[in-house]
Amino acid sequence: MGVDWQKLFQITPFWAVEAARKGIERARSKGKKLLTVKCANTPTGVLHIGNANDLIRSYFIAKSAEMLGFRARVVFTPDDRDPARGFPPVICDMKGDIVEFPQDLRKEFEEKYNGVCVALIPDPFKCHTTWVEHFLSVYLAELDALGIREAIKFEVYSPHLLYFHGEWDKYVEKVLKEKEKVKEIYRGFKQHVREFAFSPICEKCGRIGTTRVLEYDEKGKRVKYVCGGRHLKKRTVEGCGYEGWTSIRNGKVDWYIEWALDWAYFDVDIEPFGKDHLGSSFRISPRFARELFGVQEPIPVPYEFFTVDGKKMSGSRGNLYNITEFLKMLEPEIILYFYTKRPMTQRDISLRNLNLLVDEWDALEAKVFSTLEAIERGEIKEEELDRKEAAEKGYASSQELVIYYLCMHGKIPEKKPLRIPYNFAGVVGQVSKGAREIRKILMRTGHLPEDVGEKELERVVGRVRRAAYWARKYGPEFLRFEVKRPGKMKGKDREIVREIMGRLERLERWEIEEIQTAVHSVISSRADPREFYPRIYTALLGKRCGPKLGTLFSVLGREKTLELLKAMC
Ligand SMILES: [Zn+2]
Ligand SMILES: [Zn+2]
Repeated sequence: MGVDWQKLFQITPFWAVEAARKGIERARSKGKKLLTVKCANTPTGVLHIGNANDLIRSYFIAKSAEMLGFRARVVFTPDDRDPARGFPPVICDMKGDIVEFPQDLRKEFEEKYNGVCVALIPDPFKCHTTWVEHFLSVYLAELDALGIREAIKFEVYSPHLLYFHGEWDKYVEKVLKEKEKVKEIYRGFKQHVREFAFSPICEKCGRIGTTRVLEYDEKGKRVKYVCGGRHLKKRTVEGCGYEGWTSIRNGKVDWYIEWALDWAYFDVDIEPFGKDHLGSSFRISPRFARELFGVQEPIPVPYEFFTVDGKKMSGSRGNLYNITEFLKMLEPEIILYFYTKRPMTQRDISLRNLNLLVDEWDALEAKVFSTLEAIERGEIKEEELDRKEAAEKGYASSQELVIYYLCMHGKIPEKKPLRIPYNFAGVVGQVSKGAREIRKILMRTGHLPEDVGEKELERVVGRVRRAAYWARKYGPEFLRFEVKRPGKMKGKDREIVREIMGRLERLERWEIEEIQTAVHSVISSRADPREFYPRIYTALLGKRCGPKLGTLFSVLGREKTLELLKAMC
């Protein structure tokens, strides 16, 4: 008898499952057998962790729909026909690492490509053909690392190619032909009104942000345009002055209309997006969807943006983080876990306190496993989990189980994975070099069983490396250290260190708590701890603070610890 996961999805109030229920209801009412969840992104240089909201939340909804017994897909459209609106000071290289956009190259791009369709701009790193290909390939690799594309029917469409191949002809024709209706809708929202809501790509300079349609030739499926000038994000982009005819496949409709076009073409049921769209675009685009394309807008799933260390992410301010950077610190399932939080609550990621998120996940996992075992033993049933008594007994709620299932892509291990406490792992990672040494330390500290398997070991070593990366780069001051040759202590301090050595030599078991107690009892009986600790850390690590000595010494081992203490005397 296993755990009935489908039943858990049926009863849980988890937000993604609730969104999936609404989406399924909508799809069913239209006689459909497939739920379409859509998300989009603009390939601007770095797709930061805030941009990932769209995609990860779409994934949770689609996967939940499947668990509710309905087929689902995620449609992802990178906005690759948009004009470049300036170039950011930082971009990410092929590996996904965020690097500076070299100043002279950036200047060259600003001059040559501002306002140019991003699908026509070259790759600044030259490893791909275009700007879009480069940044999209990084992004898709990140999604793969999170295990998303493998876990769901995931379709990527390029609007640039859909226009180019004529897939969207009938929509574009409608926008051009029914220009009066388009203008009327825009006027209703007090929006800037252009004669035609379509921008051709200039055949001479490749800009799309600068062109204006003068005439539409319905039979010839072409437009006459001039490449003038236009404001793009506070700056004026000059056109090249070219005037001529071009195909309706060589341009794009206004963004508000393109959003509605997406809904019509992909038959979208539900779409997560940043909540700022709610009061603006999500008022305008539905009108175009209904009145121009004859479809209903999808169910919105708005989400709040989050901040990092209290600040809005920004490339120019140097606080920009992407999935690649987070994968260096967190296991994929823990990154996903962050996105399971309720979408409409404002959240801050504190890099310094990232350990708290990991601890929260580890605790959730422990609770999930004890609950799964209780269900297997028949102590409690799935449908009883959300009762007050169950929570009081410490069982996980249906929501917690479902969150765990989604973050693990449904691959629930047979037994609870071994997780080394994150802060501790950070200390181990800064002391040890290779996997073998990590293994040796963890065996000694009692964190690894004798019979640890290959895979388990690999996971544990991965956590140690990630935690060390975090501790060094973002962790709190006391967690960052390097063991070098220690300095000498003087006078009475030297005596205290000798006494500590004596106590440690006689210690029966080399364990964190016992070491800590022994060291602290000597220090507190012989000196003012608030003054002595900074002095011993200074001698030991060259700075006034460090990890708890119990932790540090247990990781270093008895021999190495005594050697260091001796050198201090
Ligand atoms: Zn490239
Ligand atoms: Zn031009």
